[in-house]
Amino acid sequence: MKPQRPTLVIHGGAGEWRLERREKGIAGVNRAAKLGFNILKGGGNALDAVESAVMSMEDNEVFNAGIGSSLTFTRSVEMEASIMDGKTLSAGAVGLIADVKNPVHLARIVMENTDHVFIVGRGAAKLAAAFNLKRQDPHTDLREKYWRELKEKIERSELSYLQKLSKLLRTNQNLLSLDTVGGIAVDKKGNVAAATSTGGLSLKIPGRIGDSPLIGCGNYADNEAGACSATGIGEIAIRLVLAKSACDQMRRGHTPQEAAANSIKEVNRRIKNTANQMGLIAIDPRGRIGAAHNSPHMCWAYMTPTTSSPKTFFKAETLKRPPSS
Ligand code: ASP
Repeated sequence: MKPQRPTLVIHGGAGEWRLERREKGIAGVNRAAKLGFNILKGGGNALDAVESAVMSMEDNEVFNAGIGSSLTFTRSVEMEASIMDGKTLSAGAVGLIADVKNPVHLARIVMENTDHVFIVGRGAAKLAAAFNLKRQDPHTDLREKYWRELKEKIERSELSYLQKLSKLLRTNQNLLSLDTVGGIAVDKKGNVAAATSTGGLSLKIPGRIGDSPLIGCGNYADNEAGACSATGIGEIAIRLVLAKSACDQMRRGHTPQEAAANSIKEVNRRIKNTANQMGLIAIDPRGRIGAAHNSPHMCWAYMTPTTSSPKTFFKAETLKRPPSS
């Protein structure tokens, strides 16, 4: 097959996409995919493309990243993001971000302007100030509403501690607020990159870090394999080092579709007795793409040299969850 370069794939999150948000979700991934792909088409690099696509989704209230991020158990916002350059294996990540407008841009600053990979909390806020990054309050009415609904549900079920949340979610999947955003791309030169950004799980305990900023778990890029961005219950992606595992499958010769589907099958096979929703997008240096999930939906889009506008979807290859979840 002739390389399909450049190509960009993005997701706006796996989970239950309620009807009230679907139209905006599709419009959001459509806009972000165009933005990122135009950079690639003009000869720009994969890193710039995934950063700008993810920033566009961070700026869109419908997604759980940047403005519109999910709220923690105590109603605060703690955003996280990461970015990775498949050419150099350079990576940057941030966590516990309260008010930086574009966490993925701060992650890129960590990657390019510090000797570190992952900076959280106060240190990350100071770095954002040093680089004059825009600040904004990410709270929105919609997330407040979701927070209240979930909190009430927990209280009615007389659950006193968050440990029980997974049990609750197993029977109330539609309460689970996911919708992290991610982008992966290959540019004309064959360099791949990945970026992922999130507000994290609704009602997470403050201080909880998910998969999105953890290199190899929610995000990975390597020119010798491909790139991958994950969405879903972060704890699962962490336990399976999911993004890197999917990339390793491409390294061993699997297509991105096989890599994404095999990884979700592995999630289904290995992870039992916990709320289980995961989604993955994958791309290889030839521009072949893949997408799979075990959640009811995954909002995603792609563009290649042969698509005149973004192809947008609410489902990809859907792999049934085990009965226990
Ligand atoms: N993976 C994210 C997390 O666990 C949530 C999501 O994908 O929406 O923080």
